[in-house]
Amino acid sequence: MFRSWVAAKMTPEKNPAMHAWAAECVRALEIERASKQAEVAEQAQRLQDLAGSANVAAWRSPHVLALTTAIYEQNAFDLMTTLGAALADAGCRDTSVLKHCSLPNHVKGCFLVDMLLGKE
Ligand SMILES: [Zn+2]
Repeated sequence: MFRSWVAAKMTPEKNPAMHAWAAECVRALEIERASKQAEVAEQAQRLQDLAGSANVAAWRSPHVLALTTAIYEQNAFDLMTTLGAALADAGCRDTSVLKHCSLPNHVKGCFLVDMLLGKE
């Protein structure tokens, strides 16, 4: 939408300098979006790799399991930062796991929640 607005308002003929600047902005936004997608994909892969590790079993304290179950069953993904603290209390020192808990916008299917609950 932004791209078509730019295309309609700022033809190269009307304002070449503004056109070049706007195109640069669009490119920068696309690069940022691609970078974030790559980071999320990398993190998901990292969490999948972790799923079978012995560490994960150690992190499944009663508190972590109760919290993770509540998050999953009640769609309480706003509690992910609390889960991060519980995981740290349970001995988790994996920065990718702890960082994931601090990110916004978790949904059902979150690799970390699924992994902790032993879902595929
Ligand atoms: Zn998540």
